[in-house]
Amino acid sequence: MHRRSFLQTGSAAVGALTLAGCTTATTPRPRIAFDPTVVLHPMRADNARILKVTVCTRPFRAAGPRLELERVGDKIVVHNYGHGGSGWSLSWGYANLAVEQALATGQRDLAVLGCGALGLTAALTAQRNGAHVTIYAKDLPAETRSANATGTWSPDSRVALQSAVTPAFEQRWESIARSSFRTHLSLLGVEGAPVEWVDRYILSDEPWNAPNDPTDGPDFAELRHLIRGLAPQLQEVEPGTHPFPVPYVKRNASLQFNVTSLQHRLVQDFLAAGGKIERREFHAPSELAKLKQKTIINCTGYGARALWRDESVIPVRGQLTWLLPQAEVRYGVIYHDMIAIPRSDGIIVQRDTEATGFNNPDTTPDRAEAERAVASLAELMGKMRTS
Ligand SMILES: Cc1cc2nc3c(=O)[nH]c(=O)nc-3n(C[C@H](O)[C@H](O)[C@H](O)COP(=O)(O)OP(=O)(O)OC[C@H]3O[C@@H](n4cnc5c(N)ncnc54)[C@H](O)[C@@H]3O)c2cc1C
Repeated sequence: MHRRSFLQTGSAAVGALTLAGCTTATTPRPRIAFDPTVVLHPMRADNARILKVTVCTRPFRAAGPRLELERVGDKIVVHNYGHGGSGWSLSWGYANLAVEQALATGQRDLAVLGCGALGLTAALTAQRNGAHVTIYAKDLPAETRSANATGTWSPDSRVALQSAVTPAFEQRWESIARSSFRTHLSLLGVEGAPVEWVDRYILSDEPWNAPNDPTDGPDFAELRHLIRGLAPQLQEVEPGTHPFPVPYVKRNASLQFNVTSLQHRLVQDFLAAGGKIERREFHAPSELAKLKQKTIINCTGYGARALWRDESVIPVRGQLTWLLPQAEVRYGVIYHDMIAIPRSDGIIVQRDTEATGFNNPDTTPDRAEAERAVASLAELMGKMRTS
């Protein structure tokens, strides 16, 4: 995949880069010198440190996430699925809207289907609005697709096709992104650091205003400009002052989700508020008749494709390589098509390839690809100045 297209569409890079407007020729920004007191400990990129390789499918819908009411027998179902590569990022904002619709049915005893990012946040939001909630799910948090997300603020990653973007879509997305962001910030400083700010460096061999390479994937919606200023802007770092082996570097602080800790926190909060979680698989919407709750929020993610026979949900495959965590590493890097971020549960290394990921339901880990990702990181770290 071309460098530029990753920068535009990669789940993590896209936000930071389009946020700063670096994919378009804009007024030059002043450069900052690299702060010499900042120590960037090298990430130890070595195959022997690979903890695991995970693959999951982003639940992409060309039209954007499905948020609407449907009657199924005597139940009312509020659908809340299909958030592509933005599920964690947009979860709270979608939860607000889904819960509003669910409570408008007059019911206070709600069922939530699914225990991933969307299910947990919808369930907590419903509780905070006075509902009694039971989550029903085939997979519990550690087993969900959400558990295998990169864990970065990426609210417009593969969230829709550009052709679906209307002014109404933009307005809703902006409002959801802003309210989600506010709720994520409320988790800063919480024990276990479920959410935190981490410095991120974006590296390039070419000047930022070099012409864009043609993209090799679908024309995903680009929406970041709508929330410019919400997160810290990227700043260009003066060449020669930084330790990276490339001439062009940008830096900002990036909002990161330590997914293991975040899920744990959400589950604990949900249970502490009297919520119940029951493992249960549904094979057809008609099986919802067995539930005692009359109003159900459907947060089954990619699972909605089979459960609801909804072929508008398209799998977008993504693989993560988990290296042993390094507490001393407090920065992330993006270089070519590779991103590495320092989560508390591991250093996550990812190479994003739209060419092979889109419409690919295969969740078999590709060890050779994982080792290539680690080799890219090792090469970069090997050439970094360490003092
Ligand atoms: C490699 C990768 C990196 C990503 N990185 C990021 C990122 O950095 N930031 C970000 O915001 N997003 C990211 N995403 C996207 C994010 O992971 C998804 O949008 C999100 O996980 C979707 O959450 P969900 O709750 O809808 O689905 P899921 O996590 O899949 O949860 C669905 C739940 O529904 C249950 N379920 C499904 N079917 C049934 C059934 N028939 N019966 C009973 N229960 C059922 C499941 O068991 C599960 O509990 C990434 C995705 C991938 C693949």
